Amino acid sequence: MKINLLLAASCFLLFSGATNNRKPSVKMIDPVDFSHVKITDNFWGPRLKSHATTTLAVCIDQIENQTGRIQNFENAAKGEGKHSGIFYDDSDVYKALEGIAYTLKNNPDPELEKKADEWIDKFAAAQQPDGYINTFYTLTGLDKRWRNMDKHEMYCAGHMTEAAVAYYQATGKHKLLDVAIRMADHMINIFGPGKRDWVPGHEEIELALVKLYGVTKDERYLNFANWLLEERGHGHGTKGGEGDWNIAYYQDDKPVREMTDIAGHAVRAMYLYCGMADVAALKNDTGYISALNRLWDDVVLRNMYVTGGIGSSHHNEGFTEDYDLPNYDAYCETCASVGMVYWNSRMNQFTGDSKYVDVLERSMYNGALAGISLSGDRFFYVNPLASKGKHHRKAWYGTACCPSQISRFIPSIGNYIYGTSADAVWVNLYIGNTSEFNIGKTLVKLQQETDYPWNGTVKLTVQSPMKKEIRLRIPGWCKSYKITVNGVKKSTAIEKGYAVLQKKWKAGDEITLTMDMPVEVVAADPRVKEDVGKRAIQRGPLVYCAEQADNANDFDKLTLSAATRFTTDFNPSLLNGVMTIKAGADKEIMFIPYYSWDNRDAGEMKVWMDYNSAK
Ligand SMILES: [Zn+2]
Repeated sequence: MKINLLLAASCFLLFSGATNNRKPSVKMIDPVDFSHVKITDNFWGPRLKSHATTTLAVCIDQIENQTGRIQNFENAAKGEGKHSGIFYDDSDVYKALEGIAYTLKNNPDPELEKKADEWIDKFAAAQQPDGYINTFYTLTGLDKRWRNMDKHEMYCAGHMTEAAVAYYQATGKHKLLDVAIRMADHMINIFGPGKRDWVPGHEEIELALVKLYGVTKDERYLNFANWLLEERGHGHGTKGGEGDWNIAYYQDDKPVREMTDIAGHAVRAMYLYCGMADVAALKNDTGYISALNRLWDDVVLRNMYVTGGIGSSHHNEGFTEDYDLPNYDAYCETCASVGMVYWNSRMNQFTGDSKYVDVLERSMYNGALAGISLSGDRFFYVNPLASKGKHHRKAWYGTACCPSQISRFIPSIGNYIYGTSADAVWVNLYIGNTSEFNIGKTLVKLQQETDYPWNGTVKLTVQSPMKKEIRLRIPGWCKSYKITVNGVKKSTAIEKGYAVLQKKWKAGDEITLTMDMPVEVVAADPRVKEDVGKRAIQRGPLVYCAEQADNANDFDKLTLSAATRFTTDFNPSLLNGVMTIKAGADKEIMFIPYYSWDNRDAGEMKVWMDYNSAK
């Protein structure tokens, strides 16, 4: 065992020195990762803090003490004892570790790092001599492994790999990366061209293998990810193995490059599309990109809620028919909204089109952010758009994918603010931060100051001289804006939703973007039956809802009309500080941001309000 680990470590060092002779990517934009971006604003800053102090503590307590997730690794290392929980529970530990890795980069914390190292030692000890790692099969019978494609063996391996890459990037330590490499090599020994077929029931390994390729530059991992994607749609699902196989649910009904409609399980679909995008970017596979464009239209135009949530059905945690978007019974898993952020970020990188960031922002500020309480210690799995008052966040779930997803998502939001291309800095999200990164040999230093999402004024200060374009995203919700450079008004070209500013920038140059942020009354596509005769309220990127806590009487009778006028008021003591909206209808209605609902006394909630068009 020791010898194998040493070998893996030396292989890793060898790979990390290899050069990449690949053709230029079809990607137009490279992301700037969170480690270059220090978030300083009053909206996300406190959330990052409460994530580090509260959310991670809840996850660690649940993983170590309230459930037997770490005990499973200890038992697997000894080869004795029982497995407790569900066969995919290892994945939550890995996702929490990924969140710890990002947090360590944002805010170094030796105690937290010690905890992570302890866990990693236990993972490494639980790895089998042939590289296999999965506590469920290790404790219930290794002879049964790799027989049932829906038992999440590759899914857990994928989350372990993502955690390994994140922890390596945050700390420089590669013990877990060596474990991930050995598991990847184990899988490649068994599966692949001329070997066994395999269709992972829950996608995730594909995008993780591309990350592993990213740090090792070992093309076998990229090629294996590509092969796994190409396995779909050829009748390989469960062939010769155990378990039932619903080809639509598992996204195995047709080859991925022929897909036109989102189907099956929503989170799996998101991870599949991310994997396709990652492979397409490195393999210049325009067939994948065409499929992703078709799928994006199907998701966003016909199957997405106003909150950016997807997957309307409890029955299959996924999709039914187009425009079937019930409100009380919406599923909208938190993980699927986070998946929309992951996928839309990748789509934006192909095209430089801001429409993808519009969706990313919608999912991030609404569907995903609702997934965690303001106190940082309770989580939604399901995110309906209306409630009779019985739906509440919980400290944890039997299937804990959503708490662990939030725990890795919040500390990594710095990933989505900036992008770069050879000649330009792309400003995608308006979040106060200081940042420092490179475009080739050019150092880029920026400071962003804003009270977004409460108001639309953003000041961007260039802090080092550079000769690059600055491309400011003009959000899809914004109908009127003004840009000044050093106090002088500029009219700029707009390309695919970005205002393009060209100048030889000096340190101290100031750009101000002022976006009008009125209250908008939004109608759904008329084919969405549930929302006929209803309207929703949106301001900037935030979707609003009415809660019974603010609208105690006649909640069922609240009605908007064409004559309704709105006023806004920032209330610093309500819900950690929110811009409230009051509608001066027959009976005044008060709205709060959707993400902040269910943080007070239990009561009814709705996003879509009755609308009287006659008035
Ligand atoms: Zn989930």
